[in-house]
Amino acid sequence: MNQAANNDWVARSLASVWHPCTQMQHHESLPLVALSHGKGAWLFDHEGRRYLDGVSSWWVNLFGHANPRINAALKDQLDRLEHAMLAGFTHEPVVQLSERLAAKTGHALGHCFYASDGASAVEIALKMSFHYWRNTGCDAKREFVCLSGSYHGETVGALGVTDVPIFTEAYGSLYRRAHVVPSPAAVGEDEALRRMRVLLEQSASQIAAVIVEPLVQCAVGIAMYDPAYLTQLRALCDEFSVHLVADEIAVGCGRTGSFFACEQAGIWPDFLCLSKGISGGYLPLSLVMTTDTVYRAFYHPDIARGFLHSHSYTGNPLACRAALATLDIFDQDDVIVKNRERAQKLGDALARVARHPAVSNVRQRGMICAFDVKPVASAGFSRRFFAEALQQELLLRPIGTTVYWMPPYVLTDEEIASLGDKTVAVLEKVAA
Ligand SMILES: *Cc1c(COP(=O)(O)O)cnc(C)c1O
Repeated sequence: MNQAANNDWVARSLASVWHPCTQMQHHESLPLVALSHGKGAWLFDHEGRRYLDGVSSWWVNLFGHANPRINAALKDQLDRLEHAMLAGFTHEPVVQLSERLAAKTGHALGHCFYASDGASAVEIALKMSFHYWRNTGCDAKREFVCLSGSYHGETVGALGVTDVPIFTEAYGSLYRRAHVVPSPAAVGEDEALRRMRVLLEQSASQIAAVIVEPLVQCAVGIAMYDPAYLTQLRALCDEFSVHLVADEIAVGCGRTGSFFACEQAGIWPDFLCLSKGISGGYLPLSLVMTTDTVYRAFYHPDIARGFLHSHSYTGNPLACRAALATLDIFDQDDVIVKNRERAQKLGDALARVARHPAVSNVRQRGMICAFDVKPVASAGFSRRFFAEALQQELLLRPIGTTVYWMPPYVLTDEEIASLGDKTVAVLEKVAA
């Protein structure tokens, strides 16, 4: 627990670890924090400094670090079965998880396919949709539609349905680009639906699926829209025989106020992708839930009509067990209801931040809060804010000039108030 240890880990990391989503040269001035441990909403470094995890460690942690209940479940699972292949074998955690998630959709989405990360879940949903149409004699339906500002992951297939230039630009000639239709967050619900209808009227016979991030487009900068858009998009997809893929990787697991964001629109998609929070932020786990109709189209004596996709760690028992412990906490602690109070308190703290003259476009949906900042200078704002927040014992990582809170669901009233106060203190340093 000292500065020498801290500096040592930082230097060795910079020499050997290529960090994600980072221009490594920025670390010549940007702090790299070497963590020693985590507890609840806090991360601790080797010097004994602590940081309130205001972004749930990239939107994955729901019930705090080193959560005793998830830890206990994992320790128990470790002594039973750490991993086995899921082709030809099954195990309790994967069966229970599939059943419990299916039940949460009223069995509208009764079949679960597993992978390890969000981008892979998106790839699976796209491939399943494409292959469904092929299996049902609609070979022409091969194209996809995404919304402007969409983010669905960074593997080559997922980039094709992603519309955030910083992630796609360098790879434009590497992937097949989907149709991009204006997002309701950009042009309003009515115009967005009108534009979607125009495209589907022209091209539905070539379109397999529309993919959306329900209610909040997170990675582009926490862009929010109304549930009514999803309700009407579902109707449009039905009218034109096009699949609807709901990428709930960021917005699922209670983040927007309901367990699935789609619930707020009263709809189910044909494919629902989950990852991030589903394992409580413990282990890489993703899954795609789909309907009996889709499942049946692959069920056939011919192996080539099956869905032959696989990943080595598909349905990993430890990850599934972490997910089951996470679902237990949702049930035992009545989390969706309790989060309404917590969201209210976050809203109160946000209202205090909103009084700062550099703050605009204040927005909230459930456990996601965001606002835009007029910076002293926009270049490097995000990094300056991040560094200044660390000084305040706060982990926040703005997207461009959008600052957001996406905290774990364990913050006390005091921690929420302090999140607000410290955010204001950071703004005093870096905002105009
Ligand atoms: C994070 C995210 C992904 C990609 O998940 P990874 O696990 O990072 O591959 C896909 N879609 C959305 C909406 C996300 O937020």
